[in-house]
Amino acid sequence: MRNAAHGGPFYPLGATTRFPRPGPELRHNSKASLQPALLEQPVAVLRGVGRDTGRRLGQLDIHTIRDLLFHLPFRHESATDLVTIASLPEKEEVNLKVRVVSCAVHETLRRRIKVLEALVSDDTGSIVAVWYNQAYLETAFREHPEVLLRGMLVRKRQRGPLFVVRRHEILGGGEESRHILGLIPVYPSTGDLSVRTIRNLLHSAAPLARHLPEPLPSELLARRGYPRKAEAILACHFPTVSREAQAARERLAFEELLLLQLALIERRHQLDCEQTALPLGPPGELAGAFLAGLPYRPTAAQLRVMGEIDADLAQSVPMRRLLHGDVGSGKTVVAAYALVRAVEKGGQAALMAPTEVLADQHYVGLRDRLAQHGIRVGLLKGSLPASERRAIRVSAAKGQVDILIGTHALIQEGVRFHDLRLVVVDEQHRFGVRQREAMLLARPDGRRPHTLHMSATPIPRTLSLTLYGDLDVSVLDEMPPGRQPVKTRLVFPRAESRMWEFVRGQLNKGRQAYVVCPLIEESEALQAVSANETFRRLSASELEGFRVGLLHGQLPAAEKGAVMSAFAAGQLQVLISTSVIEVGIDVANATVMVILGARRFGLSQLHQLRGRVGRGAHESYCLLAVEEEDPAVADRLALFARTSDGFVLAEADLALRGAGQLFGERQSGASDLLVASLVRDRHLLEEARAEAERLLALWEGRQASPAGVGSGQESSAIAAWLPAVEAARSRFGDLISRMERA
Ligand code: ADP
Ligand code: MG
Repeated sequence: MRNAAHGGPFYPLGATTRFPRPGPELRHNSKASLQPALLEQPVAVLRGVGRDTGRRLGQLDIHTIRDLLFHLPFRHESATDLVTIASLPEKEEVNLKVRVVSCAVHETLRRRIKVLEALVSDDTGSIVAVWYNQAYLETAFREHPEVLLRGMLVRKRQRGPLFVVRRHEILGGGEESRHILGLIPVYPSTGDLSVRTIRNLLHSAAPLARHLPEPLPSELLARRGYPRKAEAILACHFPTVSREAQAARERLAFEELLLLQLALIERRHQLDCEQTALPLGPPGELAGAFLAGLPYRPTAAQLRVMGEIDADLAQSVPMRRLLHGDVGSGKTVVAAYALVRAVEKGGQAALMAPTEVLADQHYVGLRDRLAQHGIRVGLLKGSLPASERRAIRVSAAKGQVDILIGTHALIQEGVRFHDLRLVVVDEQHRFGVRQREAMLLARPDGRRPHTLHMSATPIPRTLSLTLYGDLDVSVLDEMPPGRQPVKTRLVFPRAESRMWEFVRGQLNKGRQAYVVCPLIEESEALQAVSANETFRRLSASELEGFRVGLLHGQLPAAEKGAVMSAFAAGQLQVLISTSVIEVGIDVANATVMVILGARRFGLSQLHQLRGRVGRGAHESYCLLAVEEEDPAVADRLALFARTSDGFVLAEADLALRGAGQLFGERQSGASDLLVASLVRDRHLLEEARAEAERLLALWEGRQASPAGVGSGQESSAIAAWLPAVEAARSRFGDLISRMERA
């Protein structure tokens, strides 16, 4: 995958470091009859689009023929499962095909809403159908009495049965009814245009659809059994059977995901061409000594990832690797290995953590482990006195510290290094992309340090492909041996005093406990107030007589550090905190995690919290206090209690709360997709990634061949992909630069 192996730019054609632009002879859609410009004509060229309809279309962002064709329905309803008036069920949404017999409009007394009432009938009987605020339909029904209604039967005490219409279709006979009787496309919005108008316009526009350029190679379409793009678009608007609509949608979703992957992969390789790093060679003695000195044997997964890191570090292209591992999977020791690798032959490394508590913990752990190997470890955080911070900056610049651990202060204080070779970013999702990038500009010679990003948010692999498509991904998919699953229980209010009794029992056995306060999203200040309140209440009641500490975001950093170390040293028995302990804290003697107001937390968050216990030899417990016996909440938490797999929980979170909740800054990636959904189309995403990688392999094969040209067959296979690469750039180029700026 790396250009370094071939000693030249990755892309073989021309001087560009991107995929080459197609020359005229390479264009895939070069059929003379194809006139894509026709698609850019304004909708006004269509019959029936006057100024008024044009304006309404404009409000839907439909200006050109192309816009109109791409105004895709988001689902289809089957009109074939019609019910009859005689068999209308109550309070259930159904479809009726009826004839309007007569209409009347009146106004409601109180709110002066215009109500249209129509007597409608089919072969089995008749009923009164009602519309609110759509009196204008009266004329339409007089002209075209055949209609399709979607709505619900309600019984009003004084009025008897009414059919309240939610949507309707005027069948109108002729050409149109052919389409309506199959499947009804449901458009995301039609504004104040009727579905019928849109459908009519689409009919006029349909013949132009064949001018849509086809970005995907025919070979790929054939292999996947997909229709061409133009066909797929038309099948979405006018499907005859639902299978056809589904296949068309899949075809369009796949194209979208594939183009996104192509754009991400191209960006990735562009970086590889532009950036160079110092290759670090194979592991040396110090790395071996470090591994031999560990108090445990690394898991197979840890060794595998260390091997992946070694391979990256041997290259002259900077490592850009994302390490995913469930909470407790042992990412820290992998990071430490990478740090040792960076400094064993001279040079420096840095580790950036999102909180001072976590930076302290890394500092203490690494200092103790690495001092014996003669490695000098430093710490830089905002709460240190200015003179100390200055001193540490000076030693970084002079190369007198080998590994510098710190918080955001590392970036904010513009630390200069003598020879920075590697950067580890722990809990990387807590940093902005720009912050992470800033660390990487720290070398005066223009080379980039290697980077390892670590994340405990178990994002399904498919999603990391999209959200972090520009990084290589390693996964620690194995837990260190001897971990006992944490016993997880829901605790309803009536059982709360028994819960505290249990907690006291554990404390009396010498164990320690965390108590997490309810989540208040609005502000850290409110969160602190609530934590203070919980602290006071519990210290004076359920936990009276125990050594209890308090940790929240508003405490001065020094105090936070002191509380944390007292808990780690066992001087405090209970740590009451806000969700700040969510990240990274490692205290093996803690066996109980009490989470108050558990229903406010996402499953992934709960999983992070639960991961703080069960790290030692003792049986551990996670107790979720739930105020209400709301069945939906109880179901979600019951799933959590049953499942200890962070990936399963992340998927459930994703399905329940949507991608935005999980991904914050990168969520834009999800909302930029028009057809595909990251949740629903995950398997397609995997397949799209595989196709994009296949193309790269083709390219590489050609690059690696002696003449750098490859066989004629290969060249034409690559040429067939050029329209897709072009389309990927124009469709997702912006998105990717936005991701980089986020
Ligand atoms: P996380 O991936 O959540 O950052 P840590 O790196 O904090 O996990 O590791 C969790 C705990 O597991 C630590 O106490 C660490 O010492 C221990 N640990 C890590 N790797 C192993 C291993 N291979 N065998 C036994 N214990 C391990
Ligand atoms: Mg960690």
